Amino acid sequence: MKIADKVNNYLQEKYTKDKETRNPTQNHEFFPSGAMMCNRKEYYNRKIGRPEDPELSRIFLVGQIFHDWMEQNVLSGGEAEKHFKIQLDDMEIRGRADYVDEKYVYELKTIKFLKQVLENPLSHHVSQINLYLGAFNMRFGKLVYIEKNTFQVIEHVVEFSQELYDETVANYKLLKTGLDADTLPSRKQEYPGHWECKYCNWKDECDGNKNVREIKEGTIEGDNRTERTHGGDEQPNAGTPSNGLY
Ligand code: SF4
Repeated sequence: MKIADKVNNYLQEKYTKDKETRNPTQNHEFFPSGAMMCNRKEYYNRKIGRPEDPELSRIFLVGQIFHDWMEQNVLSGGEAEKHFKIQLDDMEIRGRADYVDEKYVYELKTIKFLKQVLENPLSHHVSQINLYLGAFNMRFGKLVYIEKNTFQVIEHVVEFSQELYDETVANYKLLKTGLDADTLPSRKQEYPGHWECKYCNWKDECDGNKNVREIKEGTIEGDNRTERTHGGDEQPNAGTPSNGLY
């Protein structure tokens, strides 16, 4: 068998296996990668089904290799892949931080262009690491960005913000309310100019405000949304479609 075929087979198997654990299936389960992301998009993902994208396994693997390298050669004295669960009445947010030592929670991100984050980290990454800080009751985190083609690294220190934490939790609660009631959450405030909209797989549904129940029952059977390719060049978080900004 050709090497390329072996690699492709491995990735296909990995994609199938990961898919079973990557996506939350119940209304009360949430992952930190969704922190402050579009609730409407996640509502479509859960009610209709997350779009298939086997290419994600390549992106995940590249990210994983970077992570492993950092953990083996750079980070020390702490714990890799530290799990947490935030229990909130009838819902839970669970995940794992890339690395935690005595002083910092570390979140490692591979990125295509480091210039995107030279001045500031991306806001949804700040929301994500802030959630970890709340979960571990820690004050400081580091968002570490690695440019894939050059291996240039930049880090941003993030200080815990209770305000952002509360806002993030409130956003998850809004999503849960929508999921429980079969009610489509509202669009992003900045729609359609927000970067998430630009890369969104559900833009057609969102544009047309199609009813999810109708979609499920086949009124627009066959899923007629436009296929969109992903930029696919950064390590996305679990269950998150990939583009240059994740
Ligand atoms: S197009 Fe924008 S507002 Fe609509 S679901 Fe996608 S990300 Fe959300």
